[in-house]
Amino acid sequence: MTRAGVTPLMRQYYEIKNKYPGTILLFRVGDFYETFADDAVTVSKELGITLTKRNNGGDQTPLAGFPYHALDTYLPKLVKKGYRVAVCDQTQDPEEAKLQRKIVEREVTEIVTPGTALSDRLLDHHRNNYLLAVYHHGNTWGTAYADISTAEFYIHETDQKEHQQLVNSLQPAEILLPHRWKKQLDEAYQAFTITWMDDWIYEGDFTYQRLTDHFQTHSLKGFGVESMKTGLVAAGALLHYVQEAQKHTLSHLKKIKPLDWSDSMLLDSATKRNLELTATMQDGSGDGSLISMLDVTCTPMGARLLRRRIQQPLRNPEPIQGRLDAVEQLHSLNERRQRVRSSLQPIGDLERLMSRIALGRCSARELRRLEEALSHIAPLKETLVGIEDPLLLEIEQRLIPMDELRHTLDSAIVDEPPAGIRDGGFIREGYAEALDQWRNLANNSKAIVAGIHQDLIRTTGINSLKLGYNKVFGYYIEVTKTHNEKIPDFFIRKQTLVNAERYITPELKEVEEKILRAEEEISTLEESLFESLRSHVATYTEQVQELAQAIAELDVYQCLAEIAFRNHYVKPVINDQDLIHIVGGRHPVVEKSLPLGEPFIPNDITVDNQEQQILIITGPNMAGKSLILRQTGLIVLMAQMGSFVPATSAVIGVVDKIFTRVGASDNLAAGESTFLVEMNEAANILNNATSKSLLLWDEVGRGTSTFDGLSIAWSLVEYLHHHPGVAAKTLFATHYHELNELANRYPRIRNYNVQVQEYGGKIVFLRKLIPGGADHSYGIQVAAMAGLPEGVLTRAREILQNLESHTLTVTSSDEALKQDLPMPQKMSGKTLTHSIPTQPSLPQLPLFQAELDPHLQTIIEKIKASDVDRMTPIDALMLLSELRRLLS
Ligand code: ATP
Repeated sequence: MTRAGVTPLMRQYYEIKNKYPGTILLFRVGDFYETFADDAVTVSKELGITLTKRNNGGDQTPLAGFPYHALDTYLPKLVKKGYRVAVCDQTQDPEEAKLQRKIVEREVTEIVTPGTALSDRLLDHHRNNYLLAVYHHGNTWGTAYADISTAEFYIHETDQKEHQQLVNSLQPAEILLPHRWKKQLDEAYQAFTITWMDDWIYEGDFTYQRLTDHFQTHSLKGFGVESMKTGLVAAGALLHYVQEAQKHTLSHLKKIKPLDWSDSMLLDSATKRNLELTATMQDGSGDGSLISMLDVTCTPMGARLLRRRIQQPLRNPEPIQGRLDAVEQLHSLNERRQRVRSSLQPIGDLERLMSRIALGRCSARELRRLEEALSHIAPLKETLVGIEDPLLLEIEQRLIPMDELRHTLDSAIVDEPPAGIRDGGFIREGYAEALDQWRNLANNSKAIVAGIHQDLIRTTGINSLKLGYNKVFGYYIEVTKTHNEKIPDFFIRKQTLVNAERYITPELKEVEEKILRAEEEISTLEESLFESLRSHVATYTEQVQELAQAIAELDVYQCLAEIAFRNHYVKPVINDQDLIHIVGGRHPVVEKSLPLGEPFIPNDITVDNQEQQILIITGPNMAGKSLILRQTGLIVLMAQMGSFVPATSAVIGVVDKIFTRVGASDNLAAGESTFLVEMNEAANILNNATSKSLLLWDEVGRGTSTFDGLSIAWSLVEYLHHHPGVAAKTLFATHYHELNELANRYPRIRNYNVQVQEYGGKIVFLRKLIPGGADHSYGIQVAAMAGLPEGVLTRAREILQNLESHTLTVTSSDEALKQDLPMPQKMSGKTLTHSIPTQPSLPQLPLFQAELDPHLQTIIEKIKASDVDRMTPIDALMLLSELRRLLS
C-alpha cells in the first residue's frame, strides 16, 4: 500500500495503517483525527461528515476528519456499527520534532472493537457485551466467551450444533475465528462482527501458555477446565486478542469458569424470536418484548442477570423452586421490598465500574462512585434482616459493605472530584503529607513570602527592607545603601541600583523554587497517589465482583416479586411430571397493551403426555390462536426462569426445550424462501424435540399450496403422535380444519377452537378457547374489518361460493377406515371423500390424491348406473363379482 512519491506524513500513515488490517485508523494530525482513502469514505458515510480530498503528492486521496475533542462522540458510533477502530496519537512533542526536522512520532495507543469495549458510551447497561472465540478439533467445538466490562470469562465444549446454539444465544458483539476458516465462513457466524486471527495463535501450546501466564498458575486444574483442550485453545486466543487490543494485562479477569448448560432449558433462536423474549418481531426493538415487561430491576447488574435468566431458564424443579420461594418471600413483604428497591437504586453499575478501575480506565470521580456505591451496601443488608428464605439469607451473607476499602477511598478522594485526572484537586487534604505541603506552598505562597519578609526585617533590623519579584532574579531583597553595614553574610548581592542594592538568599531561592514547582509537583504527586490508590483498590476486584453478583441476584428476585405484585401473577407449582395445566392464563405483554376498554380474556390450557398430548387449535382469523400459543410458551418459560406467572393458577411439569414455529418470515439474504425457512424450522424441531419438550406450531404449511401445506401439517401431527422419542406436548394452531379429523383417529389428540359469534354477517371475537373444532375461517369478514375495498370483498364472496360448489375427491388410507370413522371433510369449501386404504399397516400414508383412480371411477359409475330397485339377487351378485374383479 505504500506508494512512491507520497508525502512523509502519508508514508508514516500507510506504514501504521498496514499494521492494522481491517481496522479504521484515526490518525491524529494536529488538532484533528484524520482518516484517509477507503477509511475516509466509510467514516464520512457512517458519521455523516464531509469527505474531502487531500493533495497527496499528486494523487487525490479521500480525506475525512473531525476535531480531536469529538473523539468520544465519533468513536463509539463507529464501534457500535461493528467497526474496529485504532486510535493513532502523536507520541512526541511537535516542537521537539520540529527541532529534529522530523515528522512527529505517532503510535496506535488504543484499539477499540465491539467485543472489547469498556466505555459507558459503547455499552448498554442492560446487556452483556460478549467477545467470543471458537476453535474445534473433530466434532469437539470449543467456545470461550468473555465480557471484558464485567469480567465474566467462560469456556465450553460441545458438538457443532450446540455450539451454534450457544453462539446464537449469546449474541456476541464480536467473534474471533482462525484466519483459515475465512475461505468457508460458516453461516452461524455470518450475522456477527468477525475478527480473523492469525492461524499460528492456535498452534502448539501458545494459547495454554497465555492462560497460565495470565492466571499465574502452572496449570488450569484449579479452574476445573484443564481437560477442555479445545475450549482452552479458544480461551487462550481470546485472551491473546484482548491483551493485544487493549494493550492491558486484563488483571480483572480473575477466573475462567466452565459453562454448565446441563441445567438450562435450550431455546433456539427461532423460539427466542417468536416468543419475543428480548425484541419484538415487528421492529426488532426491545419495547413490547417480554423483558421490557418484566424488567423493573434497580441496578444494571440485575438487568443483565434478568436478561440472562430469561434467555436461559432452568429445567430442574429444585433450583426453580428455590428461586420461586425467594420471589414469594419478597412478594409477600411489600414494605420491605420497597426498602430493598430504594436501597438498590443508588448503587449503579458496580460491576463495570470495578472493571474500569481494575483496568486503569477510571477517573477519581469513578473511585468516588465506588465509595458511594459501597456506602449503600450496609443499608441494603439491613433490609434483609429477619428474612427466612434460604436463598435470600445467603445473599444477605454475601452483601459485605467492605468498610476498609470505603474508608480508604473516602479518606483519599474529595467529595466532588473533577471529571479528569489532569484537572487535579481530587486527593483529600490529610491523605498525603507531602501533597499537603506542596498545596500549602502553592496556596499560601503570598503568606509565605510575607513571612520570610518579616523574618528578614527582624533578623537584619532593617525596617525598610523590601521584598520584590522580577523575571530575571525571581524573588529578591532590596535594601537602601544607607543600611549597607547591616547586611548579613548570607545575603548574596545581585544588582546595584543608584540608591539601593538587591540581594538574594539561599532560603529565598529555595522557597521560590518550591513555589514555582508546586503546581507541577502537586499534579505529579496527585497522579502517582491516584495510581497507587487505584492499584490498591484493584486488589479488591474479586470481592467487588462477588458483591456485584449478590446484588444482581437480589435485584432479580425483588424485580420478579415486584412485577408479580403489580400484575397479579401467581406462583406456579413446579414438578417434573408430564403435565402443564394453566388456569386463566394471560399473555404478559398483550394484556398490558390492549386499547382501553378492550379486556384481556384469560384462557385455560391443559396439555400432557398421556391424554392430551396434541391440541389442534382452530378458529377464525384474528380469533387469538397465536396468542394462546405464545402465552403458553411464555408462562412455561417464566415459571422455569423462576418467575411468577400471569394466570389464576399454573402447574408446570418442567420441559427441557420449547420450540416454536410461528408466523412466516424469510431469509432471502441467505437464499431461503419463506416456505424453506418454515420447513427448516420444522425439521429442526423434529430432529431435536424430546418427549419432555413443549412444541408450539402456528399455521404450519401456510407458506405453500393448500394441498401441500395440509399434507405436511397432517403428517407432522401424526409423526409427533406416533414417535415416542418426539411425542412432545404440542399446541398446533391451524386454519386447516381437516386436521380436526386427527382427533377422531388418534387417542392423544384433542380439538379446541377459539370462540367467535356471528351477528348479521359480522363476527364478534369471544377469545375463549373451548373444546371442539371450528370449520370457518371468516377470512373475508376479517378482510372487511381491515378495510379492503367493497368490490374486492364482493368478488371474493363470489369466488368462495363458486369454490364451495365444486367437489373434490380425496383418497385416504388407514386406520380411520378400519375403525369406521366418519371421513367426509370440508376443505376450503371442497368436499373430501375417502377411498380404501392403500397400505393399512403404516400409520402415515398419502391422504389426498388430486385425481381419482380410473378403476374407482368405473366402479363408482357402475354403482351409480345400477337400478337397485329392479335388480334380482343374481344381478346383484353378478355386479358384486364384477366390482371385485375391477378392484383386484
Ligand atoms: P390469524 O389466524 O389471523 O393469525 P389468530 O387467531 O392467530 O389470527 P391472534 O394473532 O392470536 O389471532 O390474535 C389477534 C389479536 O387479537 C391479538 O393481537 C390481540 O390483540 C387480540 N387477542 C387475541 N387473544 C386475545 C385475548 N385472549 N384477549 C384479548 N385480546 C386478544
